[in-house]
Amino acid sequence: MSILHHRDRCRLCDSAAVQKVVEISPIPLAEKYADSPESAREMTLYPVDLYMCEDCGHVQILDVIDPEVLWADYTYHSGQTPGLVEHFRNVAHNLVDRYRPTDGALAVDIGSNDGTLLSFFRDQGFSVLGVDPALEIARGATARGIETIPELMSLPLANRVVEERGQAGIVLAFNSFAHTDDMHELADSIRCLLRPDGIFVFECQYLLDVVEKNLLGTIFHEHMCHHSVLPLQRFLQRHGMELIAIERKNIQHGSLLGVAQLLGGPRPVEESVAELMALEDAKGLNRLEVLREFDARLKQMRNKAQELLAECRREKKVIAAFGAARSGPTFINQLGLGGHISVVFDDHPQKVGKYTPGDGIAVLPTQKLSEIKPDYLVILAWIHGAKIMANNASYLEEGGCFVLCCPDVEIVTRH
Ligand SMILES: [Zn+2]
Repeated sequence: MSILHHRDRCRLCDSAAVQKVVEISPIPLAEKYADSPESAREMTLYPVDLYMCEDCGHVQILDVIDPEVLWADYTYHSGQTPGLVEHFRNVAHNLVDRYRPTDGALAVDIGSNDGTLLSFFRDQGFSVLGVDPALEIARGATARGIETIPELMSLPLANRVVEERGQAGIVLAFNSFAHTDDMHELADSIRCLLRPDGIFVFECQYLLDVVEKNLLGTIFHEHMCHHSVLPLQRFLQRHGMELIAIERKNIQHGSLLGVAQLLGGPRPVEESVAELMALEDAKGLNRLEVLREFDARLKQMRNKAQELLAECRREKKVIAAFGAARSGPTFINQLGLGGHISVVFDDHPQKVGKYTPGDGIAVLPTQKLSEIKPDYLVILAWIHGAKIMANNASYLEEGGCFVLCCPDVEIVTRH
């Protein structure tokens, strides 16, 4: 049985009027590192094209991988990224200051990962509960005192939680709100969990930033929804909720932090909601042409990458990559770098010594960079580009060149 199915309707409004707007080269499942180059190269490549709904404007991937396959052995831990930990701490404190949920209320985090976000609610007196289908990560979070149910959120599970723990004063979905195929079930689960005065808070990558900054690295199978405010407000209202505040954040080069309540709930709708909807309207974010122009820019990036490769072939230069990131296969396949990258440097304990999915490139610890000294180092972990360059300044000083893939293919030399 195939682990892939292709939807033919919009994930948010069920319209059949969905158009392919951004064509991306197929990629393997981005987090499945292999034990041998052969098994890595045998991995199936699946489409990741972006589609836009002509009715509600939602931009989405319609080629859906079975979530059990996608998430069961997931290895990413939020707690490993210091910037993210700090961000979660700030968000948790700001939310409590601003919305003052009742003392001791239950906070439920959907896609709670290692419990980092919930830990900041626990520290403020909340009773906390995580839900995450990544088995090992969920087990680890529970062991560290953040009870985590190792399942995908569903309506039966939401009912069970309400029966056992009561309704929640705050429901969180950070990134998981973009990582779900069945958004209707997710929204119904959230509504079921929420107390009448509760708030639902989500954070996800923002489509406007993806388009304006050419964030190619945000396109992979886990990231099924590329949210924007106009389609989201319609979708939430259909499920008995409404946005009351929405804010743009710099996290991951451009995210949305949204707060919603039950329709007609006790809190006023803040101006930020109408403001961002007006901005999207002015930018034409729900128009097919705007997404097609993004597609054209991505194709130009591929042309630039191919010019670089041609030069490397002529001059027999060595290209390596930095960061065994989730976005790696997208960059490699979309920019046509497959077969040209000799090694990938990364220190992730579950990736060192393994091979990248699809291309079978060996992952070596970053200390090997100074030994191998490639001529070009493509930064695949695009989110941390500036930090990677700062931490490896000596590579640059010794004549190495970084290749950035975001917002454009660009070569950085010491000059
Ligand atoms: Zn739609």
